[in-house]
Amino acid sequence: MEKYFEEQCEFIKCKPGCCSCCEVGEYPFSRLEAEYLMSGYIKLDKRVQQKIKKEINQIKQNNLKYYKCPFLQEKKCVLYNYRGIVCRTHGLAWYDYDEEKIKLPYCVNLGLNYGKVFDRETGEVFLQNPVKERLTIDSILRSPEAESYELECGEIRPLIKWF
Ligand code: SF4
Ligand code: SF4
Repeated sequence: MEKYFEEQCEFIKCKPGCCSCCEVGEYPFSRLEAEYLMSGYIKLDKRVQQKIKKEINQIKQNNLKYYKCPFLQEKKCVLYNYRGIVCRTHGLAWYDYDEEKIKLPYCVNLGLNYGKVFDRETGEVFLQNPVKERLTIDSILRSPEAESYELECGEIRPLIKWF
């Protein structure tokens, strides 16, 4: 991912405090990733844990499909080092061979990543070299690189369904 972000750096606006990508979403996580995330959660300050638990309960009670990630606190991911594949890949443009089109991150509509090569009125994308790899969680977990680790990643669910 570091290599991809370096290659695409002229189109990338990500910086600390920019968090629109964590403010609305479903955030698919495999079981393995959810467990890794929680291995970071148990090290958090108890007050932060309480706040997160409260937000998780509210999302569940309201049965929300799209929601702010409960681990986004004060515009920062409190589990940054433990975040999932969806968090690590988000922000890049990649070519979807199935749909024969370039997939752009949502924040292109906010004039952020790839904003300068996207025409919001016509939907045209003027990008020569998107990442030539399918950057979805299921494709990555089934990639030869992932399989070489022989990890049991388990089922994939929206993040909130793990609680
Ligand atoms: S992906 Fe977009 S919204 Fe998310 S940090 Fe990067 S620029 Fe900001
Ligand atoms: S785990 Fe962190 S990076 Fe991933 S969606 Fe939540 S706040 Fe964003």
